Amino acid sequence: MDDRLIWKALQFAAEAHRHQHRKGADRSPYINHCIEVAHRIRIEGGTDDPEILAAALLHDVVEDTPVTLEEVGALFGLRVQGLVDEMSDDMNLSSAERKQLQENHAPGLSPDARLLKLADKIANLEALATVPPIHWSAERQQAYLDWACRVASRVPDTGTALEQSFEEIRQKAQDAIDRRKN
Ligand code: ZN
Repeated sequence: MDDRLIWKALQFAAEAHRHQHRKGADRSPYINHCIEVAHRIRIEGGTDDPEILAAALLHDVVEDTPVTLEEVGALFGLRVQGLVDEMSDDMNLSSAERKQLQENHAPGLSPDARLLKLADKIANLEALATVPPIHWSAERQQAYLDWACRVASRVPDTGTALEQSFEEIRQKAQDAIDRRKN
């Protein structure tokens, strides 16, 4: 495997997200999330495809930073661009519309994007279980978990360990939210 594209993507994503942090109380650097998604795809998704792993590192740069899809394509190629496109919500839409579209689009994701979508949801539920966004009530956490499960359930089976991982972390997040409700 030629891993140069992966290192280039890691460098680029770290720079693009440099001022951002996660919503949890630990305010961890945003890039940690991107690394977790790529790591899960490598280990649990079982792929060492450099373009998929690069896309994992880049999956939030268009949605959350000024970087454009065209820039991603010019630097990383059309396949990576296409995968990042499949992972990017249209930020001109409302949060409710974006959430509904993720549900609608999940069944039509390409096989490679299914890995990204599932790993992203696992990473977000892991954060919800361990360091939930500050100021989110238990009810809001529950609504997010329910939505993430609806999206994941509509992603066609990847045939990898990601499905098992999702189920374990879904349960972990549910247990954590149940404790917070009391
Ligand atoms: Zn993400």
